Formats: sequence, C-alpha cells, structure tokens
Amino acid sequence: QEEYVRKPEWLKIKLNTNESYTGLKKMMREKKLHTVCEEARCPNIHECWAERKTATFMILGDTCTRACRFCAVKTGLPTELDRQEPERVADSVAQMGLKHTVITAVARDDLKDGGAEIFAETVKAIRRKNPFTTVEVLPSDMGGKEENLKILMDAKPDILNHNIETVKRLTPRVRARATYERSLEFLRRAKEMKPNIPTKSSLMIGLGETKEEIIETMDDLRANNVDIMTIGQYLQPTKGHLKIVKYWTPEEFRELRDIALSKGFKHCESGPLVRSSYHADEQVNAAEQR
Ligand code: SF4
Ligand code: SF4
Repeated sequence: QEEYVRKPEWLKIKLNTNESYTGLKKMMREKKLHTVCEEARCPNIHECWAERKTATFMILGDTCTRACRFCAVKTGLPTELDRQEPERVADSVAQMGLKHTVITAVARDDLKDGGAEIFAETVKAIRRKNPFTTVEVLPSDMGGKEENLKILMDAKPDILNHNIETVKRLTPRVRARATYERSLEFLRRAKEMKPNIPTKSSLMIGLGETKEEIIETMDDLRANNVDIMTIGQYLQPTKGHLKIVKYWTPEEFRELRDIALSKGFKHCESGPLVRSSYHADEQVNAAEQR
C-alpha cells in the first residue's frame, strides 16, 4: 500500500469547465492546435483565457521524444513536421484576442535543429498578425546546441523562458536527458546573444528538495543573469508519475518569493498554483521597466 501525502485545502479548487470555452476549444480542434492550458487541465484557465487574455500553445506536435517523470505529455517518436502550424497559431492568437502568448513545444530530439526553425517562424507569424501581442517562448534545451538557440533568439521573442524545473540534486531523477548545467548554460547564452531580452526560469517544488537547495538554485540562476523566476507546487499528473513529497504552504511560497527578490530577480511569482506561464503578462512589463 503506497502512502500519499494528503492534498491541502488551498489546492482543492474546482476546475472551471463551463461553456465559455466551448467555442475556443472547438477552434483549437479545428486548427489542430494544442494548448498546455487544456492538456495540463490547468486550474487557471478561466483567469488566463477570459480575463488576462493569455494562453500557452504547445507546438511541434503532441508527442515528445523525452519522458520526464513529472510530465503528462506522451512520449514517442514524432513523425510529423507541420509547416503550416505557425500561421494557424498566429490566427488563433488573433481570434482569441490575446495580449500575451506563451509558445512552448515538446522536445524534438529527432530534428537536427530541435524544432528551432518552426519555433522562430511561429514567433514571426504571431508578430505579423498581432503586432501588439507579446510573445514569450518556452523551449526545451533544443539539444543544447548554440546554433539552435540562435535561430530562436534572432526571432526576438519578448521573453526567453527555459525551465530549470528542479534543484540540482534531483535533476537526474526528475528530468529526462536535460541536465542542470546545460539548462543554466542555455539561459546564460540566451542573455549573451540578446542582452535586452529578459530571461526567465521556473522551479516546481514538492519533490523532496530542501529550502537550502531552492536558494542554491536561485543563486545559480542569478549567476547566469536570469531576470524572472516562478515557483509553483508540483502536482502529480497520474499515479505513474513522481510522487509528491511535500506540499509547501502559501506562507512558505511567499517567503521564497521575498528571498528571490532579495537575490535580484526583477520579478518572481511564487505560489501553490503558479505555473511557468502564470501572470506572464505582468512579467513583460516588470522586465521592461528596468
Ligand atoms: Fe495556460 Fe499557463 Fe494560464 Fe495555465 S497558467 S491557463 S497553462 S497560460
Ligand atoms: Fe514533458 Fe518537456 Fe520533458 Fe517532453 S521535455 S517530457 S514535454 S517536460
């Protein structure tokens, strides 16, 4: 019999599944697009889509070549490469009237450029059709190759986001193929290539890390000039995924945010339901007011 840590009150929220999204969801199916908001059943979907006009698209298919032990995206060998996808994403951004959009993708280790070109095309297509929408990109390490990152940075996203996900000690257990050092290097290079583009990284906690390890991660991110940090509670997507070791309390999240700000991050979102793309619209402004 496996023991589970009991879910605390502050995470018992009802998923909002009313009809207001039916139209948008239908549009996503028609355009063969995937959003993290829907697929991760993100509890913030109402706030993001309806009030904040933010959404997170997942491009390059729905099958990932990696199998991180916290992630619900299916693993396999993708076969498709859909060159029309950037235009369809751009059309959906217009249709939804988005103010801020986050573009993420599965890791495509099967592609030489790790998907960088389609990623860059998507940024450009959104810009062409939605000149006032800010665009944040959230790529994998794209094989850790500098030339792939350059293709993406040359498309000039408003924010470059790459998640460190967990503390150094737990990385080999939690992430597949990605390494802690490579992610730091990725963030450092992005800043070197385009110093004016804010960089951002997210940490999920509750996997057994200590407070000291979280603080060490903050220091490592700052040492690589990362501007924005988000911290959220890990939630186990299925029984086959890593178990939750601890539910950090809202007070502890607040304390972590204060520590992050004292370390020099320009913005930090920290809370049980915070996701990498949560309140991302505010972060663009915060980073611009430097
Ligand atoms: Fe989508 Fe991110 Fe908002 Fe969740 S927090 S609904 S994934 S944009
Ligand atoms: Fe999930 Fe990204 Fe890991 Fe793929 S690389 S399994 S999409 S977290």
